[in-house]
Amino acid sequence: MHCAHCDDIVRLFPEARSCRCGKSQGKYLEDNATTVQTWPGLSLGIANPDFVAAQEAFAADPNTFSPVLSMRAWINPASEPDVKFVAGIPLKEDEEEGEERSQVEETPADPAPAG
Ligand SMILES: [Zn+2]
Repeated sequence: MHCAHCDDIVRLFPEARSCRCGKSQGKYLEDNATTVQTWPGLSLGIANPDFVAAQEAFAADPNTFSPVLSMRAWINPASEPDVKFVAGIPLKEDEEEGEERSQVEETPADPAPAG
């Protein structure tokens, strides 16, 4: 997730995380594929095969540039079904407007099976 407010980039996990300024938050849902995040966080993708190849190229020769060190990355469009946006938490400077609270923390997790 990239925060368009502070330019931080944060990897998402099942536990909610936030960027440096706190305006963008996000997490993975239990399917480990769908992310829920607040605007202005942008959903970023990195091509895993490119990343693995770049890691291997670096490990093989850490002192030489190679085109294999480059990788494809993209911003997921808002229409992507596994990227969901929810309202964010206002920063202190925004609070005069009485904004809505984030739903990231309020997304109910499925309860553990009762045995
Ligand atoms: Zn931020």
